[in-house]
Amino acid sequence: MDNASVTELSGPATALPPGGPPGAPTIAIVGAGFSGTLLALHLLRRSPTQTRVVLIERNAQFGRGPAYSSGNSSHLLNVPAGKMSGFQGDPHDFLHWLQGLSESELCGLAPAASTFVPRHIYGRYIRHLINQELKVPERGDQLKLVRGDVADIEEVPGAVRLTLDRNRTITADRVVLAVGNFPPAPPPVADPSFYDSPLYKPDPWAADALAELDPDLPVLLIGTGLTTIDSVISLLDQGHRGPITALSRRGLVPHRHVAPGLCPPPESDRFPTRVNALARMLRRSSARQVEAGGTWQSVIDEIRPITTELWQSMCAADRQRFLRHLRPWWDTHRHRVSGPVADRVEAARASGQLRIRAGRITGYRLERPDGPVEVTFRPRFQQTQDSVTVGRVVNCAGPDADYSRIRDPLVRTLLGKGLVRPDRLCLGLDVTGNCALLDKDGAISRRMFAVGPVTKGAFWEMTAVPDIRHQAETLAGQLSAMVRPR
Ligand SMILES: Cc1cc2nc3c(=O)[nH]c(=O)nc-3n(C[C@H](O)[C@H](O)[C@H](O)COP(=O)(O)OP(=O)(O)OC[C@H]3O[C@@H](n4cnc5c(N)ncnc54)[C@H](O)[C@@H]3O)c2cc1C
Repeated sequence: MDNASVTELSGPATALPPGGPPGAPTIAIVGAGFSGTLLALHLLRRSPTQTRVVLIERNAQFGRGPAYSSGNSSHLLNVPAGKMSGFQGDPHDFLHWLQGLSESELCGLAPAASTFVPRHIYGRYIRHLINQELKVPERGDQLKLVRGDVADIEEVPGAVRLTLDRNRTITADRVVLAVGNFPPAPPPVADPSFYDSPLYKPDPWAADALAELDPDLPVLLIGTGLTTIDSVISLLDQGHRGPITALSRRGLVPHRHVAPGLCPPPESDRFPTRVNALARMLRRSSARQVEAGGTWQSVIDEIRPITTELWQSMCAADRQRFLRHLRPWWDTHRHRVSGPVADRVEAARASGQLRIRAGRITGYRLERPDGPVEVTFRPRFQQTQDSVTVGRVVNCAGPDADYSRIRDPLVRTLLGKGLVRPDRLCLGLDVTGNCALLDKDGAISRRMFAVGPVTKGAFWEMTAVPDIRHQAETLAGQLSAMVRPR
């Protein structure tokens, strides 16, 4: 990233001018992970040239977020390169960029559509997209990157005012929250004092999560999903020899991607929106596919493009039923891992180093302040207690989406002022189908919007790149039609 393009203002009470001619409409985006960055890129392509886009990020790296800032080359994308373009209309953009890298940059990687690329390479691609925009003279003037932490947003007549750290302010016509993923919530236990111990690592993406760890110490990973798989791979890469236990309520582990198999015609042209009927149909179709020499993976992939439609067509009770009973199965079938990653995880399980357990954590007993800690849990379907004694506990339970308990200062401030509210299913913030935020009374804001995982309550599958890029593109179209030069 060209650091000269990132605005760093010093001193208190600075009003940051968005730039451009007087009256130029300004759209501020809070968060420059994949969602915020893609939205900015689409806005630049669709809005009148007077429109200013201000992209604000608290971390040094624009375009990466926790997903694509991992420096570990073994942390691979869980979507093949051919499906990771930033643009729906140019589906091979990422692949073409990848094919343009030198051999040393590729480090032995085959730049093919089916390749699962290290995530940090994808982060470079997103940064490259921003740099490209900054190079176009008129676009460079339209886009302002601001390094800062947004602490507050208030609605003022005809605009919104954002307050950043060091009392800096930005006034904009519209603001979009692209604040993304928050660290997992700790499992509820009667005595949560262990969560203050240095042996507990609450943020699996933080640099210290697996740092300075005795390679022979037993480790407990809370969760058995994609974040846990990342942590297992990191532990193996750093030469960890001690036992690793991964524990989740059901002990389900993500399946692996396979090459697309034969695809017999679908059972029906209709998809039920009652959750039980849908689950039955998926099971039947999967069995038919496998019988015909195909794979169940193709059945899941077939409904991927319409999962938001299915979600939005389901009644509230069925959405709740899905979350309560089917979500872990859906997640492990839908969010799969690449073959090389699955091979390493399976080898660790076969050697006995990695044990997957199903159960619910009931408590922690620290033998000494510096460990070890005995973690007790109730195994699934049993009334008895079991335990593991470990030197470190890393919470890999997946991003916390329940905004009523997320401690982030901006989230707390907006909730406190009633400008936003959590959605009913505690998957994100309440938004309309057009991504407009709803306030505590359910009134629709004309100035405040959200994009990405924040909107999962209304869209459900708003996690992976193919879904977010579609949403970013649609929202960019709406916002650019809304803002007109004053
Ligand atoms: C570890 C991990 C791996 C993943 N791997 C894949 C994958 O392989 N393929 C795939 O399709 N999807 C993957 N995903 C899904 C991922 O959710 C999306 O791809 C996408 O990265 C989400 O981007 P985002 O911008 O919405 O959120 P984030 O990436 O979380 O970015 C939000 C940004 O907002 C900033 N921010 C938050 N609050 C403020 C504030 N108040 N002021 C200023 N800045 C703020 C944060 O610093 C952060 O940079 C992965 C997710 C994770 C967590």
